[in-house]
Amino acid sequence: MPPRSPVWHPFTQHALQPDAVGIARGDGAWLETSNGRRILDAISSWWVVTHGHCHPRIVAGVKQQAEMLDQVIFAGFTHEPAERLAAKLIELAPPGLAHVFFSDSGSVAVEVAIKMVLGFWHNRGEPRTVVAALEHGYHGDTTAAMSAGARGVFSAPYAPMLFDVARIPFPHAEREQQTIDALDSLCRRSHVAALIVEPLILGAGGMHSYPAHVLRHMHDVCAAHGVLLIADEVMTGWGRTGTLFACEQAGITPDILATAKGLTGGTLPLAATLARPEIFDAHLDEDRTRTFFHSSSYTANPICCAAALANCAIWEDEPVRERVGALATMQAERLTKFADDPRFIDVRQTGTITALELAVRDAGYLADVGPRLSAAFLARDVLLRPLGNTIYVMPPYCISAAELDLVYEAIDVGAASVL
Ligand SMILES: *Cc1c(COP(=O)(O)O)cnc(C)c1O
Repeated sequence: MPPRSPVWHPFTQHALQPDAVGIARGDGAWLETSNGRRILDAISSWWVVTHGHCHPRIVAGVKQQAEMLDQVIFAGFTHEPAERLAAKLIELAPPGLAHVFFSDSGSVAVEVAIKMVLGFWHNRGEPRTVVAALEHGYHGDTTAAMSAGARGVFSAPYAPMLFDVARIPFPHAEREQQTIDALDSLCRRSHVAALIVEPLILGAGGMHSYPAHVLRHMHDVCAAHGVLLIADEVMTGWGRTGTLFACEQAGITPDILATAKGLTGGTLPLAATLARPEIFDAHLDEDRTRTFFHSSSYTANPICCAAALANCAIWEDEPVRERVGALATMQAERLTKFADDPRFIDVRQTGTITALELAVRDAGYLADVGPRLSAAFLARDVLLRPLGNTIYVMPPYCISAAELDLVYEAIDVGAASVL
């Protein structure tokens, strides 16, 4: 059957899923189709929408900026939204980060982070080129980001374009010291340039979490060996783990921090890579060969920056931290019922995110249990997109208790229907 639409969707097997659900409007935690069907967005439209869809202050900021200045070259030129946003990010991020490089997606923010690291060592004339990463990690779908992420069916066809990365075992409970020891011995053996980690919880790799003290230990080992630490806070940032940035819970400042997804409250594509002064200074020289060679056409697009400024203002003026705390509590309350349910294993929570695994034998990401669950949830007008048999709930912070009940009812009934 020929496809009905010329659109090629991301991470979509069109032969199995020929029709996409058309969405016409968004409001708070809800999406609405053109014929008025309402769907509860329990994954914040792929982890980006933090305050709910179409938050009026972000909409107003975008409108106002669109009428003033739409776009301007960002090499040799600047504009107020970018200047104000950079200053605000430095103020909000863990202390010690001093420079902000803008880009337009989380993947590119990671790409930029890795290029900064290689540029840093190159310009210092030290032969450190090995990038280390956590097992099961996900850092995006561009080349360096994919290289740093876990290898699997997603990356197999593209293996020729990926570079080798040193893997550190994931810090499973009770085996955390193995992770620290592996990192330490790698740093002694090899010329490690940087370690990249998703702090506290690995997103696309399966919502695996680890405690803040392990993050702190990894930071300390890196610091002891002069290895740069890149915190990929693309998913964890902007409240997801309970604090504005996950690194706060470990009391650490990474050398480089990547942020995207919730940076604009989930309205427009914008990302930022924040760096310590040493990283910037290693590129600061009258010798032009030491320039940081990276750009994209829309670097720091003014309208995207205005959306991000509105997001920061919401964090400052509205009780967002209280909402995040309340959501974490509401999530915990609903999760207890599933903790003793034999249909589920590994019931867990990190801040506003919950995850649970449906106990099925065929459990890989490509197993059809994932799409079958998604369809069962959607039949109950709830948008969830399990990673294989791992069901997770990552709602916008505006979701109400009654709406969250609908999500967990859908999980209960949906799971029953596929077992
Ligand atoms: C989503 C994600 C990325 C990639 O961000 P995009 O904006 O989708 O390119 C990178 N790292 C982590 C941890 C993510 O969750």
